[in-house]
Amino acid sequence: MKATTMILSATVLGLLSVVTAVMPAAQAAEGGRRPNILYIMTDDHASHAMSCYGSVVNKTPNLDRIADAGVRFDNCFVTNSICAPSRATIITGKYSHINGVPVFNRFDGSQPTLAKYLQSAGYHTGLIGKWHLGSDPTGFDHWEILPGQGRYFDPEFYTAAKTRTIKGYATDIITDLTIEFLKNRPKDKPFFLMSHHKAPHRAWDPDEKHRAMFADRKIPEPPTLRDDYATRTDAIKENEQRVFDDMTRRDLKLTPPADLKGSDLNKWLGVKPTEVEIEVDGQKKLLKGEELNAWKYQRYMQDYLACIQSVDDNVGRLLDWLDQNGLAQNTIVIYTSDQGFYLGDHGMYDKRFMYEESLRTPFVVRWPGVIKPGSVQKAMALNADFAPTLLEVAGVRVPDDMQGRSLVPLLRGERPADWRTSIYYRYYHDPGHHNTRAHYGVRTETHKLIYFWKKNQWELFDLTKDPQELKNLYGDPAVGDLTEKLKAELYRLKKELKDDDQFADEQPPPGVDGSPPVRKRP
Ligand code: CA
Repeated sequence: MKATTMILSATVLGLLSVVTAVMPAAQAAEGGRRPNILYIMTDDHASHAMSCYGSVVNKTPNLDRIADAGVRFDNCFVTNSICAPSRATIITGKYSHINGVPVFNRFDGSQPTLAKYLQSAGYHTGLIGKWHLGSDPTGFDHWEILPGQGRYFDPEFYTAAKTRTIKGYATDIITDLTIEFLKNRPKDKPFFLMSHHKAPHRAWDPDEKHRAMFADRKIPEPPTLRDDYATRTDAIKENEQRVFDDMTRRDLKLTPPADLKGSDLNKWLGVKPTEVEIEVDGQKKLLKGEELNAWKYQRYMQDYLACIQSVDDNVGRLLDWLDQNGLAQNTIVIYTSDQGFYLGDHGMYDKRFMYEESLRTPFVVRWPGVIKPGSVQKAMALNADFAPTLLEVAGVRVPDDMQGRSLVPLLRGERPADWRTSIYYRYYHDPGHHNTRAHYGVRTETHKLIYFWKKNQWELFDLTKDPQELKNLYGDPAVGDLTEKLKAELYRLKKELKDDDQFADEQPPPGVDGSPPVRKRP
C-alpha cells in the first residue's frame, strides 16, 4: 500500500471511529430524535455559591433541580478565567491563542463555531442575553443580545436589525425572551438555545425583592478572607481586586450627595472609601478599620447573592415551562458560568487568577434517560469541552481542530482510561483592570504550578495538603523533583495545544466598561 493511501485510510478510519462513537448518544434521544439543547450560562457565578456544590452562603433550589436530576461536575475548569475569552473558548472549543480572544479582542465571527455546526446539522439555533464578544453573533437563526456588559435595569437589547429598551430587570427579561424563543421556534427541528444572563456580574445590582431577602443577612466569612499572601509572589500582592481595599462607593452602593452630576458624580462613585458613615437604629455610625472591612464584605456578598437568587428563581420558572410544555424529557439542560469568582477568598472579589475559586466553574447537566440522576463526576472537564460535547450529543462529528474533548462518556458516568489528568491555563489581561499579572500554569489532580511570565516568578501548591493554596512551595528543595515533573508537564501541554506565546504581549484594548468595542447599533 502506498503511503498516501495509508494516510487516507487512516483518516477515513479515524472519521468512522468518530461517527461510530457519536451514534449511541444521538440514538439515546427519545424516540431516536436528537435532543434539544438548552444552555444556560451566568456571568461570574462561583460554584461555591450553589447549594448543590455545598455552599455555606446561600441556597439555590432551582439550580439544584438540574444537578439532582442529572450530574454535577466537581472539577470543571476554564482555560482563561475572564468573560470574553471564556465565551470565545466555549463557542469554538479552542484555547484563546487559537480563537484569537486572549483579552477583550473582538471575536472573528467568520471562524467555525458550535452554533454554526449545529445550525448546519439542522438545529434551530438561538442566543439571548449577554454575548460580550464585540462582533455580531454568527451561526444563530435568532439572536437578541445586550450591548457589551449591558444594564441590570431597563436594559437595551439589539439584533442585526433593531435596538430596543425593555423595562424591567435583566434576569427576568432574559428569561422572558428565552421562553419567547421556545414558543416561537419551528416545531419540526430540534433547538439549540444559549440563554446568557448578565447576573451576577459586578456591580451586583439586585432587584428590590431579592435585595430585601439579603439586606439583613449575615454571610459567613471565608477562611482566607484575611490571607496575608506570605510565601506568595509579588503578583498576588499587587492585585487590586481586594474586598477591603478596592471596593468603590459604587460597589458598596453608597448614596452620593444629591447635587453631584456627570463626571463629578462618577468621580465620587469611583472612590475607594476608607471611612463610611452608616445608620444603625436611627443613629449615625462611622465605620473604619477592621469594622469597615467586615462591613464591606457583607455589602458585597449580600448584593452578589441577591443577584444569584433572582437567577435561581428564573431558572425555576424556565424549568417549569419545559415541564408544562412537554419539553423536559427530550431537552438537555445545562447550567454553567463563564468562570468562577472570589467570594472574599484570598481577600478578593473578582476572577482572573488561576486559584481554585475562579479557575473552577459550575457545570451541571440534566439529560433524562441518559444521565443517572444525582450523579457526581470528579474527572477534570474544561469549558473547551462544551462544544465537542454538544456536537456529539447532536450526532455531529467533532472537528479535529477542536482542542476540547467530548464529555459525553463522563455524562454517562464512564471515565475513559485515557482521560486527562492535567489541564493547561493561561491568562493574558495585563496590564488591565484589577492589576492581575499575566500567568500560565498546569493543574494536576494533586498539584498546581503557576508561572507569572512578565515577572518571572512561580507558585507551586500541593492541593491535597493545602487545598486553600496558602503555602507556595516553589523553591523548596524538598519538592525539587516534583517541580521539574510539573514543569515538564506544563511545557508538554503548552506544546500539544500549540501555544507558542503568540499573544504573550497582548494587552487589553482601551474601553470604558472593559468590553470589546461594539459596532454602532441599529
Ligand atoms: Ca464573567
